[in-house]
Parts: sequence; structure tokens; C-alpha cells
Amino acid sequence: MKKCITDYDLFDKKVIIRLDLNVPISNGVITDDNRIKKSLKTINYAIEKGAKVIIMSHLGRIKSEEDKASNSLQVVALRLSELLFRPVKFVGETRGSILENEIANMQSKDVILVENTRFEDIENKESGNDDELARYWASLADIFIDDAFALIHRAHASNVGIAKYLPNGIGFLIEEELDKMLPMINEPKKPFTIILGGAKVSDKIGFIDNLIDQADYVLIGGGMAYTFLYALGYNVGKSLLDKDKIDYVKKLLSDYKDKIILPLDSITSTSIDGNNASFIKNIDEFNDDDIGVDIGPKTIELFKKYTTLSKQVIWNGPMGVFEVKAYSKGTYDILLSLVGDRLVMIAGGDTAAAAINMGFSKDFTHISTGGGASLAVLANEDLPALDIINEK
Ligand code: AMP
Repeated sequence: MKKCITDYDLFDKKVIIRLDLNVPISNGVITDDNRIKKSLKTINYAIEKGAKVIIMSHLGRIKSEEDKASNSLQVVALRLSELLFRPVKFVGETRGSILENEIANMQSKDVILVENTRFEDIENKESGNDDELARYWASLADIFIDDAFALIHRAHASNVGIAKYLPNGIGFLIEEELDKMLPMINEPKKPFTIILGGAKVSDKIGFIDNLIDQADYVLIGGGMAYTFLYALGYNVGKSLLDKDKIDYVKKLLSDYKDKIILPLDSITSTSIDGNNASFIKNIDEFNDDDIGVDIGPKTIELFKKYTTLSKQVIWNGPMGVFEVKAYSKGTYDILLSLVGDRLVMIAGGDTAAAAINMGFSKDFTHISTGGGASLAVLANEDLPALDIINEK
């Protein structure tokens, strides 16, 4: 078992908490503060225990000096302060005397938010896990707590790097993600169904390879399905196609032909933006300029037969271009069919966003917002930011 925040006496200690506060910001306004809200439990615990709380996070990507202006965490400090009902001191630098003095002057229960760790990425120091930077950050604190689940599969200076030099543990968000995900992966309840959708086959190969033997059924929708249908010889028109993965898909179809369930019909259009007319077509009726944008009604009924008989479902990737209302019915109907007496994990950024925005946030065993991180856990990949954390 990994050490966690509750294993330390935090009173009067300088505690760096690494969070994922990488929220979407449009014209200086946070458009979705879910990631900040998910981090509150760990921050509040540290405050209650009397820590001096030093928060670090990344925001966006920084490749040049110009990127810095639109990617400051200052606006996040304001929102965090509202949600915590206490002042959050924003320090607009990632190193230097101002940061050091602010930390030296902290009292128990004070909260500091340090500027975007990726400001160090102009020389690739943060994302490259630069040792000098990691040592410097570690020198500012007594304890390191990692609660950035979204980065658990990455080795950066602000997670793996700092953890190397300080007593460390995980926070409540990482703990909850792993507590919910790992039993469903390691001891799935049967019948166990995997639902795959979204844009690309290539992103999900690790997940498929790791879990397909344990699954009873694999339902494939979304843009991914057209690579499978193409591999079977159907004309998929201008639908998404992962050309590099056709051989991989052919092998899956031959090795697991009884498990893999493909669409019978699609909603088609000639663009994916919702501006052109759409049609219901069987999968052998596509014209050369048709694009499959959602699963059709026969497919929804077919998939529901499997979802409703399952005791466990893991789902990654929407059934269609759900961002366009007219193409969101497949995703919605399959979500609705999952509500009930079964374990359901919705994994990955877009599928999680669909489930939450469509009103299912309380209906399932777990909605993992970790995007690439949740796929890495499902694929049983190395998780360097977890591996570095001390055992109890
Ligand atoms: P992923 O990150 O691979 O789960 O992909 C999610 C994205 O796939 C979403 O933005 C969806 O709009 C997109 N998507 C799902 N189905 C289709 C489709 N049939 N054609 C094009 N894009 C799709």
C-alpha cells in the first residue's frame, strides 16, 4: 500500500501538494472548475491539520515566452480562494527569492499557489523531470503529496522529481481513482463488457490488449467502429479510419470474433459539424461521401442487450460526435442503459465529460476524468508518479 496524506503529521509542516488544476480558460474566465473542486478534499485536509500548504500545478502547454501570458495560474488562485473560503496567496514565479520569502513567512494553515510549473518548460525542465529543478522545489518543503491523477503516467519534475527528495504520499483523489479502478480491472464481475468508441483505435490498444481476454463482450462504436467495418470489407465512405491499424484490427476480429460486437447501422452525414442533413443507414448502405457520425437505432438496441445483462462495464470513447446534439443520442442511450445494478466505470476525458454533461454524474461506480492517465491504468502501463511514492 502506498503512503497517503493521512500517514503524516502535517502540523506546521511545509507541504507541497501537486494537483491537476489544468482547467479550461477562455478570455481569462474559467469555463469548468471541476478539477479545482476535485482537489478541495486534499487541500482542506492539509489546512485542517495545520499544514503550510504550497500548491503546484501545470496549466496548458508552454513552448515559448508568449505562451506564458495566457497560461498563468493567477485566475485559478482566485477561484480556489472562493471555493476554500480563505485567502490563497498567488506567487507569480516558479523559483526565486519572492517564492522563497513567501514560503519562509508562511504560518500554519496558510495557502500558497505557485505559478504554472510548465513555465519551466521553455528548457523542458518540468516535463523533462530535470533533477536540478526537482531538488530546488523539494528544498522548499518538508513533505510532498501528489494528487495529480491526470499525470500519474508521466515523470515530471513536479511529481516524480520532488517525490525522490522528500517524504511523500498520495492525496485523496489518486487514492479514490485507484481504489475504484483497480478492483474492476483485477477482479472483474461477470458478465463483463467493454465499450469502446471515440476517435482513434491507436490510443486504446493497450487497454484492449490488457483486458480483452477477461471481457465477455466488446461493443465497438464511435469513429473507431469504421476501421473495424472497413477491415471486414464494408465501404465506410469518408468516416474516420485508422489506416495504420487495419492489420491489428483484422487480427482482433479473427482472434475474438465471438466477443466483438459491431454496429449494424449508423447516423450518417456529409460533415461532422451538424450543418448537413443526416440519415439512418445500414452499414452496407454507405455512399462514398458518407461519414458515420453516431450509432444508429438498431445498433443502440443491439448494444443495450449486452449492457443490460452485464454485471460490470468499462467504457472509453463516445459512441458518436456527442458534442453535436443531433449526434449524441447513441452515447446518451447507452449511458442510460447502464444505470442500475451493475459496476460501471466511465474512463477518459471525453467519455467522462459526456456522462457528466448528460446528467449521469451520480449514477455510476466511477467516472474517471484522468484521460490518458485512466487509459494508462486500464492498459496496466508503468505509472512512474505512483511507483516513486513510498510504501506504508
Ligand atoms: P477519444 O478521445 O478517442 O475518446 O475520442 C473522442 C472524440 O471522438 C470526440 O471528440 C468525438 O466527437 C469523436 N468521435 C466519436 N465518434 C466519432 C465519429 N463517428 N466520427 C468522428 N469523430 C467521432
